[in-house]
Formats: sequence, C-alpha cells, structure tokens
Amino acid sequence: MRFPTVLIASLLAFAPTAGAQRWFRGNTHAHSLNSDGDVPVDAVVRWYREHGYHFTFITEHEYFTDVAPLNALFAGANRFLVIAGQEVTQRIADSAHTGGVRQAHVNALGTSRLVPTIGEKNIAKGMTIAQTYARNGAAIRAAGGLLQVNHPNFIWSVPLADMMDLPDSTLFEVWNGHPIVYNQGGTDSTGQEMLSTEGRWDSVLSRGKLLFGVGDDDSHSYKPEDAENPDMARPGRAWIWVRADTLSAEAILRALHRGDFYASTGVTLKELKADPTQYALEITPAGDRRYLTEFIGQGGKVLARSTTLRSAYRIVGGEGYVRARITDSSGRMAWTQPVRMQR
Ligand SMILES: [Zn+2]
Ligand SMILES: [Zn+2]
Repeated sequence: MRFPTVLIASLLAFAPTAGAQRWFRGNTHAHSLNSDGDVPVDAVVRWYREHGYHFTFITEHEYFTDVAPLNALFAGANRFLVIAGQEVTQRIADSAHTGGVRQAHVNALGTSRLVPTIGEKNIAKGMTIAQTYARNGAAIRAAGGLLQVNHPNFIWSVPLADMMDLPDSTLFEVWNGHPIVYNQGGTDSTGQEMLSTEGRWDSVLSRGKLLFGVGDDDSHSYKPEDAENPDMARPGRAWIWVRADTLSAEAILRALHRGDFYASTGVTLKELKADPTQYALEITPAGDRRYLTEFIGQGGKVLARSTTLRSAYRIVGGEGYVRARITDSSGRMAWTQPVRMQR
C-alpha cells in the first residue's frame, strides 16, 4: 500500500545504522560523595556494574568527574562503561515561589568539562527557566554534551510554558526514581495543577516539538541498609535501554541524540521499530506478568491498545506523533520515543 501523505520527521529515530545493533542498559543521573551522594564514586560505579547495567553517567552537582581512572578500573569492552557528565543545578529567583527560588536543574551528558551555572549561588536573576534552559543547553553543547531536562515537578518548579521552546531531541526525565520529584504531578489546595511528567511530554509533543523521554535514578543513597527504604533516592528504580552497535560514549550519545532508546521501570522490549507505515514493538515476557501496550498520539490520546506481546500500530496519518507506553500487571512500565508525523 502506498503511503504518500505521512512522513516520519524524526528520520533519525530508529534509523538503521551499519553493524549489528545491541541493547545497552544505562543510567543518566547518579550522585556520589563528590556531591551529595552517600558513597565514594567508585562504589556508585560498582553498584551499577553489579546490577545488570552496561553504563552509567556520573552527574554530580557542579563537579566534573574524570571518568578515565574509573574506566581503567571498571570498564570492559561491550560489558561496562562510565560516561562523564554533570548536573547543572540551576535555580532562578522568584519571590512568589516557595523559598524564593524555582529549580531548573539539567544534566550535561557526555561533556568534557565543567559547565558553570548562571548567577551567584546558582541563582539566575531576571531570567525565566526557559532562558536558563537555552543558555545552559548551549553551554552543554559547547562542552560536547547533550542536554537532559531534569525533574520539572521538583518543588513544583517548572511552568509547562518553559518547556515549549526546548530544541528538538532534548532529553527529559519522564521518570526520575527520586522519591520527591513527583513524576505523577498534582493539584494544590487552591486548585493549581502541575501536570505529570508524561502529561507534560504529550503537551510539548502536541505543539510539534520532539522531546525524548528518559528514565533514570537520580541516585544518592547506596548503602545496603537503606535498600528497602522508599524515602531514599536509591539506584535501580528507572533506566534506559539504548540501541547501539558498540558500547562507547560516542555510540551511546549518538543513539540518545537520535532517540534510539526507551525508558523503563522494569518492562523490557525485544524489538522496537517505526517506519512510515507502522510503529511496532515486542515485549520480552517476565514470568506470568500480563502487559498492556498503549499507542499514544496528539493530545495524549490513546490511539490503540494491545494485550499481546507483539503489537503494531498502523499509521493512518493525522496522529501528530506516535509513541508507546507499556504497563505490566505489577505497575512496571516502559516508554518508547515518539516519532513525529508530517503532512
Ligand atoms: Zn536535580
Ligand atoms: Zn540529581
């Protein structure tokens, strides 16, 4: 069947590349004693290496980690890798907001040097959050890295409008494992609503922008005695699976930039494929869990549902964008990246 009216604009997403592709599991947000985590950075790296991950970024607040010595100790070809980064702990002055500041944190992924925040004590004055995203994003790109927008609902900080001008292919945390970043959003006693992170994603996508959703830990607390404490920012709560032909910083960053990955809190995919006619995926089953796959388009509308392990949404045109969300019978999830339609 000919399909003349719909093009997939994000041609980079799921574009075939040469060489055998593999899935690599990783974390894009981790802290150690070098900022406000509770173990030395080598213990952070060891935790991820010993818990089924292929890579982790180290993203300290205002501290750039030289990952070469860590890789000398812990890396293995196509088995494990540490990638440099940083959390740029930007805030903006806003006397109308709780504590007089709003939080505009972003991660720098794959940078080669420290990216300074704007303003004294990380507080930008007379700027909007959107303006700090633009300035910090440019500084991160200049340092060779990718921009990831972090936890917009932390201290109910980021107005939705401030996310509307983010450049295409920006990463953002659709699921951050920290207990007080409020992925689900909420409404205050005066009726003011902050959308869930996923609701924000659909709002931005519905304006024709292309953001990629990341799952990560924002891990701070690694001690074994805290393993079962839901109020601590533990590792292992959310991650990404990235498709690349080799486990190198360059290959992982390229795949992140083209959106060739998905976010997960426990659901694993065997296959994921989008072309101009369909958006298809296959779930790797775990035990007797049951799965619901929802294909989502413009306005967050559920276009189709499936309860089989293999499912495909046939693109008809006019969807605006198509992405998928998979939920299992215990509430674990996966979010795949949107492809954008163009008439
Ligand atoms: Zn943060
Ligand atoms: Zn953090």
